[in-house]
Amino acid sequence: MERESMEFDVLIVGGGPAGLAAAIRLKQLAAEKGNDISVCLIEKAAEIGAHILSGAVMDPRALNELIPDWKEQGAPVTTAVTEDRVIFLNETGGRKVPTGLLPDCFLNHGNYIVRLGNVAKWLGEQAEALGVEVYPGFAGAEILFDETGAVKGVATGDMGVTREGEQGPAYQPGMELHAKYTLFAEGCRGHLGKQLEAKFNLRNGVDPQTYGIGLKELWEVPAERHEPGVVVHTTGWPLPSDTYGGGFVYHLEDNLVAIGYVVGLNYTNPHLSPFEEFQRYKTHPEIRKYLEGGKRLAYGARAIAAGGLQSQPKLVFPGGALIGDDAGFLNAARIKGSHAAIKSGMLAAEAAFDAVAAERQRDELAAFPEAFKSSWLYEELHKTRNFKPYMKKGLWMGSLLFGIDQKVLKGKAPWTLHNSSDHDKLKLASECPKIDYPKPDGVLTFDRLSSVFLSNTNHEEDQPCHLQLKDASVPIAVNLAKYDAPEQRYCPAGVYEIVRDESGQNPRLQINAQNCVHCKTCDIKDPTQNINWVVPQGGEGPIYQGM
Ligand SMILES: Cc1cc2nc3c(=O)[nH]c(=O)nc-3n(C[C@H](O)[C@H](O)[C@H](O)COP(=O)(O)OP(=O)(O)OC[C@H]3O[C@@H](n4cnc5c(N)ncnc54)[C@H](O)[C@@H]3O)c2cc1C
Ligand code: SF4
Repeated sequence: MERESMEFDVLIVGGGPAGLAAAIRLKQLAAEKGNDISVCLIEKAAEIGAHILSGAVMDPRALNELIPDWKEQGAPVTTAVTEDRVIFLNETGGRKVPTGLLPDCFLNHGNYIVRLGNVAKWLGEQAEALGVEVYPGFAGAEILFDETGAVKGVATGDMGVTREGEQGPAYQPGMELHAKYTLFAEGCRGHLGKQLEAKFNLRNGVDPQTYGIGLKELWEVPAERHEPGVVVHTTGWPLPSDTYGGGFVYHLEDNLVAIGYVVGLNYTNPHLSPFEEFQRYKTHPEIRKYLEGGKRLAYGARAIAAGGLQSQPKLVFPGGALIGDDAGFLNAARIKGSHAAIKSGMLAAEAAFDAVAAERQRDELAAFPEAFKSSWLYEELHKTRNFKPYMKKGLWMGSLLFGIDQKVLKGKAPWTLHNSSDHDKLKLASECPKIDYPKPDGVLTFDRLSSVFLSNTNHEEDQPCHLQLKDASVPIAVNLAKYDAPEQRYCPAGVYEIVRDESGQNPRLQINAQNCVHCKTCDIKDPTQNINWVVPQGGEGPIYQGM
Protein backbone atom coordinates (compact mmCIF):
# COMPACT_ATOMS: atom_id res chain seq x y z
CA MET A 1 0.00 0.00 0.00
CA GLU A 2 1.37 3.45 -1.01
CA ARG A 3 2.00 6.00 1.73
CA GLU A 4 0.09 9.24 1.33
CA SER A 5 1.99 12.48 1.76
CA MET A 6 1.27 16.00 2.98
CA GLU A 7 3.35 19.16 2.46
CA PHE A 8 4.06 21.87 5.05
CA ASP A 9 6.40 24.79 5.39
CA VAL A 10 7.61 23.58 8.80
CA LEU A 11 7.13 20.20 10.44
CA ILE A 12 7.79 19.73 14.15
CA VAL A 13 8.36 16.27 15.65
CA GLY A 14 7.46 16.22 19.35
CA GLY A 15 4.89 18.17 21.35
CA GLY A 16 6.84 19.11 24.47
CA PRO A 17 7.77 22.66 25.51
CA ALA A 18 10.40 22.95 22.74
CA GLY A 19 8.22 21.80 19.85
CA LEU A 20 5.15 23.69 21.00
CA ALA A 21 7.10 26.92 21.56
CA ALA A 22 8.54 26.63 18.05
CA ALA A 23 5.07 26.07 16.59
CA ILE A 24 3.60 29.04 18.47
CA ARG A 25 6.48 31.36 17.55
CA LEU A 26 6.18 30.47 13.85
CA LYS A 27 2.50 31.35 13.81
CA GLN A 28 3.04 34.52 15.86
CA LEU A 29 5.61 35.70 13.30
CA ALA A 30 3.27 34.81 10.45
CA ALA A 31 0.54 36.94 12.04
CA GLU A 32 2.94 39.83 12.76
CA LYS A 33 4.41 39.88 9.27
CA GLY A 34 1.21 39.01 7.39
CA ASN A 35 3.05 36.15 5.74
CA ASP A 36 1.25 32.87 6.44
CA ILE A 37 3.19 29.70 7.00
CA SER A 38 1.87 26.15 7.34
CA VAL A 39 3.01 24.38 10.49
CA CYS A 40 2.35 20.78 11.50
CA LEU A 41 3.29 19.22 14.84
CA ILE A 42 3.14 15.50 15.56
CA GLU A 43 3.27 13.92 19.01
CA LYS A 44 3.57 10.20 19.78
CA ALA A 45 1.41 10.39 22.93
CA ALA A 46 -2.33 9.92 22.67
CA GLU A 47 -2.74 13.54 23.77
CA ILE A 48 -0.44 16.52 24.20
CA GLY A 49 1.28 16.36 27.59
CA ALA A 50 0.62 12.65 28.19
CA HIS A 51 4.29 11.68 27.70
CA ILE A 52 5.74 14.66 29.55
CA LEU A 53 7.40 13.89 32.86
CA SER A 54 9.33 16.58 34.67
CA GLY A 55 9.81 18.09 38.19
CA ALA A 56 9.05 20.84 37.74
CA VAL A 57 10.24 24.19 38.94
CA MET A 58 9.93 26.43 35.93
CA ASP A 59 11.90 29.58 35.25
CA PRO A 60 9.31 31.75 33.46
CA ARG A 61 11.86 33.81 31.51
CA ALA A 62 11.28 32.12 28.16
CA LEU A 63 7.52 31.85 28.66
CA ASN A 64 7.46 35.61 29.39
CA GLU A 65 9.05 36.16 26.00
CA LEU A 66 6.81 33.70 24.15
CA ILE A 67 3.43 34.63 25.64
CA PRO A 68 3.91 37.77 27.76
CA ASP A 69 0.30 37.68 29.03
CA TRP A 70 0.38 33.98 29.98
CA LYS A 71 -1.24 34.76 33.35
CA GLU A 72 -4.25 36.42 31.72
CA GLN A 73 -4.41 33.59 29.18
CA GLY A 74 -4.86 31.10 32.03
CA ALA A 75 -1.55 29.24 31.90
CA PRO A 76 -1.42 26.51 34.57
CA VAL A 77 1.56 28.29 36.14
CA THR A 78 0.21 29.43 39.48
CA THR A 79 2.35 28.24 42.40
CA ALA A 80 5.16 30.73 42.97
CA VAL A 81 8.19 29.39 44.82
CA THR A 82 8.22 30.68 48.40
CA GLU A 83 11.26 28.95 49.88
CA ASP A 84 14.30 26.89 48.87
CA ARG A 85 15.59 24.14 51.14
CA VAL A 86 18.80 22.40 50.09
CA ILE A 87 19.71 19.53 52.41
CA PHE A 88 22.70 17.19 52.59
CA LEU A 89 21.24 13.91 53.87
CA ASN A 90 22.97 11.25 55.91
CA GLU A 91 21.28 7.99 56.87
CA THR A 92 19.35 9.37 59.81
CA GLY A 93 19.32 13.14 59.48
CA GLY A 94 20.28 16.04 57.31
CA ARG A 95 22.03 19.39 57.25
CA LYS A 96 20.34 22.32 55.55
CA VAL A 97 22.68 24.56 53.58
CA PRO A 98 22.25 28.22 54.61
CA THR A 99 20.64 30.07 51.69
CA GLY A 100 23.50 32.61 51.63
CA LEU A 101 25.96 29.84 50.75
CA LEU A 102 23.96 28.59 47.78
CA PRO A 103 25.09 29.52 44.27
CA ASP A 104 22.54 31.71 42.46
CA CYS A 105 21.68 28.86 40.10
CA PHE A 106 20.24 26.87 43.05
CA LEU A 107 17.85 29.66 44.06
CA ASN A 108 14.29 29.64 42.81
CA HIS A 109 12.92 33.02 43.79
CA GLY A 110 10.70 34.18 40.90
CA ASN A 111 10.17 30.64 39.60
CA TYR A 112 6.99 28.55 39.63
CA ILE A 113 6.22 24.97 40.57
CA VAL A 114 4.26 23.43 37.71
CA ARG A 115 2.92 20.16 36.37
CA LEU A 116 4.76 20.37 33.07
CA GLY A 117 2.36 18.00 31.30
CA ASN A 118 -0.42 20.50 32.03
CA VAL A 119 1.72 23.37 30.77
CA ALA A 120 2.36 21.42 27.55
CA LYS A 121 -1.35 20.75 27.16
CA TRP A 122 -2.06 24.46 27.54
CA LEU A 123 0.70 25.37 25.05
CA GLY A 124 -0.88 22.86 22.66
CA GLU A 125 -4.19 24.72 22.94
CA GLN A 126 -2.43 28.03 22.24
CA ALA A 127 -0.73 26.51 19.19
CA GLU A 128 -3.99 25.15 17.82
CA ALA A 129 -5.72 28.49 18.35
CA LEU A 130 -3.00 30.10 16.23
CA GLY A 131 -3.60 27.64 13.40
CA VAL A 132 -0.92 25.01 13.98
CA GLU A 133 -2.02 21.56 12.81
CA VAL A 134 -1.43 19.52 15.97
CA TYR A 135 -1.62 15.73 15.59
CA PRO A 136 -1.25 13.73 18.79
CA GLY A 137 -1.16 9.95 18.39
CA PHE A 138 1.33 10.10 15.51
CA ALA A 139 4.90 8.97 16.07
CA GLY A 140 7.70 10.11 13.79
CA ALA A 141 9.16 6.71 12.89
CA GLU A 142 11.46 7.34 9.93
CA ILE A 143 13.44 10.30 8.64
CA LEU A 144 12.89 11.08 4.96
CA PHE A 145 15.63 12.54 2.79
CA ASP A 146 15.40 14.26 -0.59
CA GLU A 147 17.62 13.53 -3.58
CA THR A 148 20.30 15.94 -2.30
CA GLY A 149 20.49 14.14 1.05
CA ALA A 150 18.68 16.92 2.95
CA VAL A 151 15.94 16.03 5.44
CA LYS A 152 12.58 16.40 3.75
CA GLY A 153 10.37 15.32 6.64
CA VAL A 154 9.37 12.18 8.48
CA ALA A 155 7.09 9.21 7.98
CA THR A 156 4.73 8.32 10.78
CA GLY A 157 4.72 4.69 11.89
CA ASP A 158 2.59 2.02 10.24
CA MET A 159 -0.29 0.74 12.37
CA GLY A 160 -1.49 -2.86 12.55
CA VAL A 161 1.81 -4.60 11.79
CA THR A 162 2.00 -7.95 13.60
CA ARG A 163 4.74 -9.16 15.95
CA GLU A 164 6.26 -11.07 13.01
CA GLY A 165 6.34 -7.91 10.88
CA GLU A 166 3.39 -8.92 8.67
CA GLN A 167 0.50 -6.62 7.73
CA GLY A 168 -2.36 -7.58 10.09
CA PRO A 169 -6.10 -7.11 9.44
CA ALA A 170 -6.01 -3.55 10.87
CA TYR A 171 -2.96 -2.53 8.83
CA GLN A 172 -2.69 1.17 7.99
CA PRO A 173 0.45 2.51 6.34
CA GLY A 174 2.13 5.52 7.91
CA MET A 175 1.96 8.91 6.26
CA GLU A 176 4.79 10.95 4.75
CA LEU A 177 4.97 14.49 6.10
CA HIS A 178 7.17 16.69 3.93
CA ALA A 179 8.42 20.14 4.86
CA LYS A 180 10.85 22.85 3.88
CA TYR A 181 12.30 22.54 7.37
CA THR A 182 11.79 19.88 10.05
CA LEU A 183 12.45 20.66 13.71
CA PHE A 184 13.15 17.65 15.92
CA ALA A 185 11.87 18.18 19.46
CA GLU A 186 11.68 14.62 20.79
CA GLY A 187 13.15 15.40 24.19
CA CYS A 188 16.04 13.58 25.79
CA ARG A 189 17.60 10.82 23.61
CA GLY A 190 15.26 11.29 20.69
CA HIS A 191 15.40 8.20 18.55
CA LEU A 192 15.33 10.20 15.30
CA GLY A 193 17.72 12.76 16.80
CA LYS A 194 20.18 9.92 17.46
CA GLN A 195 20.01 8.93 13.78
CA LEU A 196 20.48 12.53 12.64
CA GLU A 197 23.56 12.90 14.84
CA ALA A 198 25.07 9.86 13.14
CA LYS A 199 23.99 10.70 9.59
CA PHE A 200 25.26 14.30 9.66
CA ASN A 201 28.19 13.75 12.09
CA LEU A 202 26.62 16.28 14.44
CA ARG A 203 28.69 15.04 17.40
CA ASN A 204 32.07 15.58 15.76
CA GLY A 205 34.31 17.57 18.08
CA VAL A 206 31.92 17.64 21.05
CA ASP A 207 31.88 15.61 24.27
CA PRO A 208 29.64 12.54 24.55
CA GLN A 209 26.25 13.30 26.09
CA THR A 210 25.86 12.30 29.74
CA TYR A 211 22.52 11.48 31.32
CA GLY A 212 20.52 10.88 34.45
CA ILE A 213 17.37 8.89 35.05
CA GLY A 214 14.66 10.80 36.88
CA LEU A 215 11.88 8.92 38.69
CA LYS A 216 8.88 10.75 39.99
CA GLU A 217 5.68 10.27 41.94
CA LEU A 218 2.80 12.64 42.51
CA TRP A 219 1.25 12.51 46.00
CA GLU A 220 -1.80 14.01 47.59
CA VAL A 221 -0.83 14.81 51.18
CA PRO A 222 -2.75 15.90 54.29
CA ALA A 223 -3.24 19.68 54.39
CA GLU A 224 -1.11 20.02 57.54
CA ARG A 225 1.91 18.54 55.72
CA HIS A 226 1.49 20.70 52.65
CA GLU A 227 3.59 23.86 52.24
CA PRO A 228 2.65 25.34 48.84
CA GLY A 229 5.62 26.93 47.10
CA VAL A 230 8.31 25.09 49.09
CA VAL A 231 11.09 23.56 47.00
CA VAL A 232 13.29 20.92 48.65
CA HIS A 233 16.44 19.58 47.00
CA THR A 234 18.55 16.92 48.65
CA THR A 235 21.79 15.16 47.97
CA GLY A 236 23.70 12.43 49.81
CA TRP A 237 21.82 9.43 51.26
CA PRO A 238 20.80 6.92 49.98
CA LEU A 239 23.46 7.07 47.23
CA PRO A 240 27.13 6.57 48.06
CA SER A 241 29.17 9.75 47.69
CA ASP A 242 30.87 8.52 44.48
CA THR A 243 27.52 8.21 42.70
CA TYR A 244 25.88 11.36 41.33
CA GLY A 245 22.25 11.92 42.24
CA GLY A 246 19.73 13.59 44.47
CA GLY A 247 16.09 14.08 45.24
CA PHE A 248 13.44 16.75 45.08
CA VAL A 249 10.16 17.52 46.81
CA TYR A 250 8.05 20.25 45.25
CA HIS A 251 4.90 21.43 47.01
CA LEU A 252 2.35 22.23 44.28
CA GLU A 253 -1.18 23.53 44.67
CA ASP A 254 -4.21 21.53 45.96
CA ASN A 255 -2.27 19.49 48.57
CA LEU A 256 -0.19 17.93 45.80
CA VAL A 257 3.47 17.12 46.23
CA ALA A 258 5.82 16.08 43.41
CA ILE A 259 8.61 13.89 44.73
CA GLY A 260 11.42 12.59 42.58
CA TYR A 261 14.88 11.15 42.46
CA VAL A 262 17.63 11.49 39.86
CA VAL A 263 20.56 9.09 39.47
CA GLY A 264 23.46 9.89 37.13
CA LEU A 265 23.66 7.16 34.49
CA ASN A 266 27.44 7.07 34.80
CA TYR A 267 27.02 4.97 37.96
CA THR A 268 29.44 2.07 38.19
CA ASN A 269 27.87 -0.58 40.43
CA PRO A 270 25.67 -2.81 38.23
CA HIS A 271 23.73 -3.93 41.32
CA LEU A 272 22.37 -0.41 41.78
CA SER A 273 18.66 0.06 41.10
CA PRO A 274 17.56 3.68 40.58
CA PHE A 275 13.95 2.62 41.25
CA GLU A 276 14.79 1.11 44.62
CA GLU A 277 17.03 4.03 45.56
CA PHE A 278 14.02 6.26 44.97
CA GLN A 279 11.77 4.05 47.07
CA ARG A 280 14.11 4.03 50.05
CA TYR A 281 14.75 7.76 49.65
CA LYS A 282 11.13 8.31 50.66
CA THR A 283 11.73 6.55 53.99
CA HIS A 284 14.23 9.17 55.18
CA PRO A 285 12.80 11.17 58.12
CA GLU A 286 13.40 14.47 56.26
CA ILE A 287 11.33 13.19 53.32
CA ARG A 288 8.71 10.90 54.82
CA LYS A 289 7.48 13.76 57.00
CA TYR A 290 5.96 15.35 53.88
CA LEU A 291 4.23 12.17 52.68
CA GLU A 292 2.89 10.37 55.74
CA GLY A 293 -0.87 10.03 55.70
CA GLY A 294 -0.88 10.85 51.99
CA LYS A 295 -1.73 8.86 48.89
CA ARG A 296 0.39 8.19 45.84
CA LEU A 297 -1.48 9.22 42.69
CA ALA A 298 0.97 8.78 39.84
CA TYR A 299 4.36 7.38 38.89
CA GLY A 300 6.72 7.66 35.94
CA ALA A 301 10.30 8.07 34.81
CA ARG A 302 12.29 9.83 32.11
CA ALA A 303 15.95 10.27 31.22
CA ILE A 304 17.60 13.68 31.47
CA ALA A 305 20.35 14.94 29.13
CA ALA A 306 22.76 16.62 31.52
CA GLY A 307 26.02 17.27 29.65
CA GLY A 308 25.34 20.94 28.95
CA LEU A 309 27.10 23.07 26.36
CA GLN A 310 30.15 20.90 25.79
CA SER A 311 27.93 17.89 24.99
CA GLN A 312 25.64 19.71 22.60
CA PRO A 313 25.67 18.37 19.05
CA LYS A 314 25.75 20.72 16.07
CA LEU A 315 22.20 22.07 16.07
CA VAL A 316 21.49 22.25 12.35
CA PHE A 317 21.77 20.11 9.23
CA PRO A 318 20.36 20.46 5.71
CA GLY A 319 16.59 20.63 6.11
CA GLY A 320 16.23 21.04 9.85
CA ALA A 321 17.38 21.46 13.41
CA LEU A 322 17.43 19.81 16.82
CA ILE A 323 15.76 21.76 19.63
CA GLY A 324 15.07 21.34 23.36
CA ASP A 325 16.38 18.27 25.14
CA ASP A 326 16.81 16.51 21.78
CA ALA A 327 19.82 18.85 21.48
CA GLY A 328 20.77 18.78 25.19
CA PHE A 329 19.70 22.33 26.09
CA LEU A 330 19.01 21.44 29.75
CA ASN A 331 20.86 23.24 32.54
CA ALA A 332 21.88 20.34 34.82
CA ALA A 333 23.08 22.53 37.70
CA ARG A 334 19.57 24.00 37.95
CA ILE A 335 17.82 20.72 36.91
CA LYS A 336 15.89 22.96 34.57
CA GLY A 337 15.27 22.40 30.92
CA SER A 338 11.74 23.61 30.30
CA HIS A 339 12.73 27.28 29.92
CA ALA A 340 15.69 26.27 27.73
CA ALA A 341 13.44 24.07 25.60
CA ILE A 342 11.02 26.96 25.03
CA LYS A 343 13.79 29.44 24.23
CA SER A 344 15.56 27.07 21.83
CA GLY A 345 12.25 26.37 20.07
CA MET A 346 11.64 30.10 19.67
CA LEU A 347 15.11 30.75 18.26
CA ALA A 348 14.84 27.89 15.77
CA ALA A 349 11.37 29.06 14.74
CA GLU A 350 12.65 32.57 14.06
CA ALA A 351 15.40 31.19 11.83
CA ALA A 352 12.98 28.88 10.01
CA PHE A 353 10.43 31.65 9.52
CA ASP A 354 12.99 33.98 7.93
CA ALA A 355 14.26 31.19 5.70
CA VAL A 356 10.77 30.28 4.46
CA ALA A 357 9.95 33.98 3.94
CA ALA A 358 13.11 34.26 1.83
CA GLU A 359 11.86 31.29 -0.23
CA ARG A 360 14.68 29.07 0.90
CA GLN A 361 14.22 25.41 1.73
CA ARG A 362 16.11 22.41 3.07
CA ASP A 363 19.38 24.23 3.66
CA GLU A 364 21.07 24.77 7.02
CA LEU A 365 19.38 27.22 9.38
CA ALA A 366 22.70 28.80 10.37
CA ALA A 367 20.87 31.75 11.94
CA PHE A 368 19.61 29.45 14.73
CA PRO A 369 22.97 28.56 16.32
CA GLU A 370 24.13 32.15 15.77
CA ALA A 371 21.10 33.53 17.61
CA PHE A 372 21.59 30.97 20.39
CA LYS A 373 25.22 32.05 20.81
CA SER A 374 24.17 35.63 21.46
CA SER A 375 21.18 34.76 23.68
CA TRP A 376 20.77 34.80 27.47
CA LEU A 377 20.36 31.03 27.27
CA TYR A 378 23.91 30.56 25.99
CA GLU A 379 25.21 32.84 28.75
CA GLU A 380 23.28 30.82 31.36
CA LEU A 381 24.49 27.43 30.08
CA HIS A 382 28.05 28.69 29.70
CA LYS A 383 28.12 29.81 33.33
CA THR A 384 27.24 26.36 34.68
CA ARG A 385 29.00 24.26 32.01
CA ASN A 386 31.46 22.70 34.46
CA PHE A 387 28.80 21.39 36.87
CA LYS A 388 28.59 17.78 35.64
CA PRO A 389 32.36 17.34 35.19
CA TYR A 390 32.95 18.64 38.74
CA MET A 391 30.33 16.25 40.13
CA LYS A 392 32.28 13.32 38.65
CA LYS A 393 34.78 13.99 41.45
CA GLY A 394 32.26 12.81 44.05
CA LEU A 395 29.64 14.57 46.15
CA TRP A 396 31.86 16.50 48.56
CA MET A 397 34.72 17.48 46.26
CA GLY A 398 32.32 18.18 43.39
CA SER A 399 30.07 20.40 45.53
CA LEU A 400 33.07 22.31 46.88
CA LEU A 401 34.61 22.89 43.45
CA PHE A 402 31.30 23.91 41.89
CA GLY A 403 30.63 26.23 44.85
CA ILE A 404 33.99 27.97 44.26
CA ASP A 405 33.35 28.03 40.50
CA GLN A 406 30.04 29.83 41.03
CA LYS A 407 30.58 31.93 44.17
CA VAL A 408 34.19 33.01 43.60
CA LEU A 409 34.78 32.70 39.86
CA LYS A 410 31.15 33.59 38.99
CA GLY A 411 31.08 30.82 36.37
CA LYS A 412 33.88 32.52 34.43
CA ALA A 413 36.63 29.95 35.01
CA PRO A 414 39.01 30.03 32.05
CA TRP A 415 38.69 26.26 31.60
CA THR A 416 36.00 23.96 30.29
CA LEU A 417 36.02 20.47 31.74
CA HIS A 418 34.84 17.45 29.78
CA ASN A 419 32.09 14.84 29.91
CA SER A 420 32.37 11.19 29.01
CA SER A 421 29.84 8.54 28.00
CA ASP A 422 27.72 6.61 30.52
CA HIS A 423 27.24 3.16 28.97
CA ASP A 424 30.86 2.05 29.45
CA LYS A 425 31.13 2.90 33.15
CA LEU A 426 29.78 -0.28 34.76
CA LYS A 427 32.29 -2.40 36.67
CA LEU A 428 32.02 -6.17 36.75
CA ALA A 429 29.25 -7.38 39.06
CA SER A 430 31.72 -9.65 40.83
CA GLU A 431 33.82 -6.61 41.81
CA CYS A 432 30.96 -4.59 43.29
CA PRO A 433 29.00 -4.90 46.54
CA LYS A 434 25.44 -6.19 46.22
CA ILE A 435 22.85 -3.77 47.55
CA ASP A 436 20.24 -5.11 49.92
CA TYR A 437 17.14 -3.03 49.21
CA PRO A 438 14.31 -3.15 51.76
CA LYS A 439 11.00 -4.75 50.76
CA PRO A 440 8.26 -2.25 49.85
CA ASP A 441 5.69 -1.59 52.58
CA GLY A 442 2.86 -0.74 50.17
CA VAL A 443 2.25 2.53 52.02
CA LEU A 444 5.29 4.72 51.45
CA THR A 445 7.30 2.40 49.23
CA PHE A 446 6.11 0.24 46.35
CA ASP A 447 7.21 -2.38 43.84
CA ARG A 448 7.78 -1.76 40.15
CA LEU A 449 4.62 -3.36 38.83
CA SER A 450 2.18 -1.48 41.05
CA SER A 451 4.12 1.66 40.15
CA VAL A 452 3.99 1.09 36.41
CA PHE A 453 0.26 0.54 36.74
CA LEU A 454 -0.03 4.19 37.83
CA SER A 455 1.70 5.39 34.66
CA ASN A 456 -1.29 4.03 32.66
CA THR A 457 1.14 2.74 30.06
CA ASN A 458 -0.20 0.48 27.37
CA HIS A 459 1.05 -1.05 24.12
CA GLU A 460 -0.59 -3.37 21.63
CA GLU A 461 1.19 -6.68 22.21
CA ASP A 462 0.91 -7.91 18.63
CA GLN A 463 3.40 -5.51 17.06
CA PRO A 464 7.15 -5.66 16.42
CA CYS A 465 9.02 -5.15 19.71
CA HIS A 466 10.01 -1.49 19.99
CA LEU A 467 13.04 -2.47 22.10
CA GLN A 468 15.33 -3.88 19.45
CA LEU A 469 18.37 -5.99 20.25
CA LYS A 470 21.18 -5.59 17.74
CA ASP A 471 22.56 -8.98 18.82
CA ALA A 472 20.17 -11.35 20.62
CA SER A 473 23.01 -13.22 22.34
CA VAL A 474 24.41 -10.18 24.20
CA PRO A 475 21.88 -10.05 27.09
CA ILE A 476 23.03 -13.45 28.36
CA ALA A 477 26.58 -13.75 27.03
CA VAL A 478 27.63 -10.26 28.11
CA ASN A 479 25.08 -8.50 30.30
CA LEU A 480 24.19 -11.43 32.54
CA ALA A 481 27.66 -12.95 32.59
CA LYS A 482 29.52 -9.75 33.40
CA TYR A 483 27.03 -7.33 34.95
CA ASP A 484 24.31 -9.58 36.39
CA ALA A 485 21.82 -8.25 33.81
CA PRO A 486 21.66 -4.60 34.94
CA GLU A 487 18.68 -3.87 32.65
CA GLN A 488 16.54 -5.71 35.22
CA ARG A 489 17.41 -2.95 37.69
CA TYR A 490 17.87 0.26 35.71
CA CYS A 491 14.60 -0.12 33.80
CA PRO A 492 12.05 1.70 35.99
CA ALA A 493 9.15 -0.29 34.52
CA GLY A 494 10.21 -3.92 34.91
CA VAL A 495 10.40 -4.43 31.15
CA TYR A 496 13.52 -6.61 31.23
CA GLU A 497 13.43 -9.93 33.07
CA ILE A 498 15.84 -12.85 33.10
CA VAL A 499 13.71 -16.01 33.12
CA ARG A 500 14.91 -19.60 33.46
CA ASP A 501 13.41 -23.01 32.78
CA GLU A 502 11.94 -25.20 35.54
CA SER A 503 15.34 -26.53 36.52
CA GLY A 504 16.63 -22.98 36.96
CA GLN A 505 18.82 -23.32 33.86
CA ASN A 506 18.91 -21.79 30.40
CA PRO A 507 18.47 -18.13 31.25
CA ARG A 508 16.94 -15.91 28.61
CA LEU A 509 15.92 -12.27 28.47
CA GLN A 510 12.18 -11.66 28.42
CA ILE A 511 11.15 -8.20 27.22
CA ASN A 512 7.79 -7.04 28.58
CA ALA A 513 7.61 -4.21 26.05
CA GLN A 514 4.02 -3.35 26.91
CA ASN A 515 5.22 -1.92 30.27
CA CYS A 516 7.66 0.57 28.75
CA VAL A 517 7.25 4.19 29.93
CA HIS A 518 9.46 5.61 27.14
CA CYS A 519 12.16 6.86 29.52
CA LYS A 520 15.00 5.82 27.11
CA THR A 521 17.32 4.62 29.90
CA CYS A 522 17.99 1.24 28.26
CA ASP A 523 19.01 2.94 25.01
CA ILE A 524 21.53 4.96 27.04
CA LYS A 525 22.88 2.61 29.71
CA ASP A 526 23.10 -0.77 27.98
CA PRO A 527 26.82 -1.54 28.37
CA THR A 528 27.43 -2.48 24.72
CA GLN A 529 24.73 -0.19 23.26
CA ASN A 530 22.94 -3.30 22.08
CA ILE A 531 19.44 -1.97 22.82
CA ASN A 532 17.86 0.36 20.30
CA TRP A 533 14.64 2.09 21.39
CA VAL A 534 12.34 2.84 18.45
CA VAL A 535 8.83 4.26 18.49
CA PRO A 536 5.97 1.80 18.98
CA GLN A 537 2.60 2.50 17.36
CA GLY A 538 1.46 6.11 17.73
CA GLY A 539 -0.77 6.88 20.71
CA GLU A 540 0.75 4.18 22.92
CA GLY A 541 2.97 4.43 26.00
CA PRO A 542 2.23 6.15 29.29
CA ILE A 543 -0.78 8.36 29.81
CA TYR A 544 0.52 10.78 32.40
CA GLN A 545 -1.93 13.28 33.83
CA GLY A 546 0.00 16.45 34.53
CA MET A 547 3.39 14.96 35.38
C1 LIG B 1 12.59 13.92 36.73
C2 LIG B 1 12.78 15.20 35.97
C3 LIG B 1 12.74 16.41 36.64
C4 LIG B 1 12.88 17.60 35.95
N1 LIG B 1 12.76 18.77 36.63
C5 LIG B 1 12.74 19.93 35.96
C6 LIG B 1 12.47 21.15 36.63
O1 LIG B 1 12.24 21.17 37.84
N2 LIG B 1 12.45 22.28 35.90
C7 LIG B 1 12.66 22.28 34.55
O2 LIG B 1 12.62 23.34 33.93
N3 LIG B 1 12.96 21.15 33.89
C8 LIG B 1 12.99 19.97 34.56
N4 LIG B 1 13.24 18.81 33.89
C9 LIG B 1 13.61 18.86 32.47
C10 LIG B 1 12.43 19.18 31.56
O3 LIG B 1 11.37 18.30 31.81
C11 LIG B 1 12.89 19.06 30.13
O4 LIG B 1 14.03 19.84 29.94
C12 LIG B 1 11.81 19.49 29.14
O5 LIG B 1 10.66 18.72 29.29
C13 LIG B 1 12.36 19.38 27.72
O6 LIG B 1 11.37 19.74 26.81
P1 LIG B 1 11.39 19.15 25.33
O7 LIG B 1 10.23 19.74 24.65
O8 LIG B 1 12.73 19.32 24.75
O9 LIG B 1 11.21 17.57 25.51
P2 LIG B 1 10.06 16.73 26.21
O10 LIG B 1 9.42 17.51 27.29
O11 LIG B 1 10.67 15.43 26.57
O12 LIG B 1 8.98 16.52 25.07
C14 LIG B 1 9.25 15.76 23.94
C15 LIG B 1 7.94 15.32 23.33
O13 LIG B 1 8.21 14.73 22.07
C16 LIG B 1 7.48 13.53 21.95
N5 LIG B 1 8.20 12.66 21.02
C17 LIG B 1 9.41 12.08 21.21
N6 LIG B 1 9.78 11.38 20.13
C18 LIG B 1 8.79 11.52 19.23
C19 LIG B 1 8.61 11.02 17.91
N7 LIG B 1 9.55 10.30 17.30
N8 LIG B 1 7.46 11.33 17.26
C20 LIG B 1 6.50 12.09 17.87
N9 LIG B 1 6.64 12.58 19.12
C21 LIG B 1 7.78 12.31 19.78
C22 LIG B 1 7.42 12.99 23.36
O14 LIG B 1 6.35 12.08 23.51
C23 LIG B 1 7.23 14.27 24.17
O15 LIG B 1 5.88 14.60 24.31
C24 LIG B 1 13.12 17.59 34.56
C25 LIG B 1 13.17 16.37 33.86
C26 LIG B 1 12.99 15.19 34.56
C27 LIG B 1 13.01 13.89 33.81
S1 SF4 C 1 12.28 -0.42 28.38
FE1 SF4 C 1 13.82 1.18 28.28
S2 SF4 C 1 12.68 3.01 27.69
FE2 SF4 C 1 11.18 1.51 28.36
S3 SF4 C 1 10.85 1.97 30.52
FE3 SF4 C 1 12.47 0.40 30.45
S4 SF4 C 1 14.39 1.52 30.40
FE4 SF4 C 1 12.75 2.98 29.94
